[in-house]
Amino acid sequence: MSERVITSLTNPTVKAVRALHMRKERRETGLFLAEGLKFIGEALDQGRAPEILLVGRDARPHPLLERARQQTEAAQGQVVSVSAEILAKVSRKDNPQTVLAVFRQVFTPLEAIAPARAPCWVALEQVRDPGNLGTIIRTADAAGCGGVILIGECVDPYGVEAVRATMGSVFAVSITQTDADSFLEWRARWPGSVVGTRLDASTAHHEVEAHRPSLLLLGNEQAGLSDDLAAACDVNVKIPMRGRADSLNLSVAAGIMIYALTA
Ligand code: SAM
Repeated sequence: MSERVITSLTNPTVKAVRALHMRKERRETGLFLAEGLKFIGEALDQGRAPEILLVGRDARPHPLLERARQQTEAAQGQVVSVSAEILAKVSRKDNPQTVLAVFRQVFTPLEAIAPARAPCWVALEQVRDPGNLGTIIRTADAAGCGGVILIGECVDPYGVEAVRATMGSVFAVSITQTDADSFLEWRARWPGSVVGTRLDASTAHHEVEAHRPSLLLLGNEQAGLSDDLAAACDVNVKIPMRGRADSLNLSVAAGIMIYALTA
């Protein structure tokens, strides 16, 4: 298949890819945007080929780029050559990556999660900050967790900012969306320990003896973990606050807990 060349900023493909900055458009199309060869390499390693690969005309030859071109075409995707101006417009950045790709979103249904596949899983209630969510997905991947479960109204894990913060881990761990009632019903069959995190907990995080696979619950940035979800945990723990700060940033608390539970 020969590579298409797009030169116009008003080209429909350019407009459609740019529209993926909007949640509504991502929801309707089931697609998302990832930037840079590192992300594309992570995706290819997981058997995920781009639906659209936008390659800047200035992109230097690279074996990974060649692989991306081949796998995009093999999966019936489009490979498109574009100007730096179009890349900047699509990524909404002054210094865009030289390669952008559009992928299909993947969500794992709650019932398809196999707890024994990993020592730890992370559940987040109403997480609102894309940077926090992306960082937690990255940390979960780094520590060998199986996936991240989003409970209630959460920020979109496939938003551009969240995806950037994952540094490619969005392709490596499973992502599940659910509501609190379905989560509570499913949690009743969890085979290991369910560990909640609350500032009012009396158990320190290092005192907990969790049985694997552990399921770690963290709460919303403002409101914390709700009473209903905290009550469904086997134990709630607090990371000691020794100075004046009354709480940790959500992704920092997640990092400490994930490594404590996977050590
Ligand atoms: N005002 C909120 C509250 O009362 O919980 C603060 C929420 S905190 C910024 C966001 C989440 O990070 C919490 O729901 C909890 O999951 C986790 N977290 C932050 N600091 C923590 C700590 N010291 N111990 C346990 N969890 C913590």
